Amino acid sequence: MNNFHPDKTATTPEKIRHIQYRGILDSCNYSCSYCPFSKRPHSPKKEAKDRLCLSRLLEQLKKETERFTFQIVPYGEALIHTYYWEFLAELSRLETVKAVGCQTNASFPAKKMIALFLKTGDISKLRLWCTFHPSMTSVESFCRQISLLKNYGISLCAGAVADPSRKDALSRFKASLPKDIYFWLNQMDGKRQPYSPEDRAFFESIDPFFLLEETPFPSDPSRCQAEFSPDGTLNHIFIKANGDIYACILSKTCLGNLYGQEHISDLLPPGNQKTENLPEKPSKKAFQCPRFCHCFLAYQNLSAAIPELAFFAPYPSFRILNRNLR
Ligand code: SF4
Ligand code: SF4
Repeated sequence: MNNFHPDKTATTPEKIRHIQYRGILDSCNYSCSYCPFSKRPHSPKKEAKDRLCLSRLLEQLKKETERFTFQIVPYGEALIHTYYWEFLAELSRLETVKAVGCQTNASFPAKKMIALFLKTGDISKLRLWCTFHPSMTSVESFCRQISLLKNYGISLCAGAVADPSRKDALSRFKASLPKDIYFWLNQMDGKRQPYSPEDRAFFESIDPFFLLEETPFPSDPSRCQAEFSPDGTLNHIFIKANGDIYACILSKTCLGNLYGQEHISDLLPPGNQKTENLPEKPSKKAFQCPRFCHCFLAYQNLSAAIPELAFFAPYPSFRILNRNLR
């Protein structure tokens, strides 16, 4: 972590709710060989339904009175569809909204998206999580896109899968990225062999937080931010297209439905317990967690167990560093 230095101007994180959302869209304009959404044909019927779900969600979120951040974690690529830009731009204008964002392969027409955001949204609230796919685009074209987004003041991170067969492209990518943009690496899914010491040293030289990807964090709701506050609400939630709410993208327990509530804070834990009867800590069983919180979107909830997450405050979910690279 030697490359990172505390930002002395960083303030204490506010207590606000973080919302992740996944629509029903599951297609992509890229065709990465390892991905289930690769080359899945785009269905206009599904798109129409996805659009309707987003409009309904927007109307519901407008009723929220407490502050929150919002991040789209799609299956496939969402930002090639202009209705996602419109949704995020409109949402970003709400006073209750502190930040909006999306995971993306960054292949969308950036100038058009920026123009729409400047006209109808608050671009200072936009946070993008951009993934580089070396088999689909060149380092040069991806980094051009990143620089363009950054020049418009959009906060972002950029990264790739830690694939040992792509070390050359990853080195060139690191060298070409603006220095103040955090370059993360994700552990390869389905990898049977552990990384060799050389590979691990290489990946750690690129991403000083790569060790977090390799650490199997046991799921522990008592140390997880996606837990009930004393007022009975949840700090972090994941919402599906139909409004079903979960503690995180990995949890299998549906905690209620957004459209059955006036506000998210009305959501009570399973069993409709009254606030005063809430257990002090949710049990692992109630959350039906997998054994490990094995991806960043989940383990970013474990700030009590992972001190490094302070580097990503106040909104770790977006994976954007609050400290300068030196
Ligand atoms: S860009 Fe992402 S969603 Fe699209 S095919 Fe590649 S891995 Fe899958
Ligand atoms: S799986 Fe999700 S809810 Fe369970 S401990 Fe991990 S982050 Fe928290």
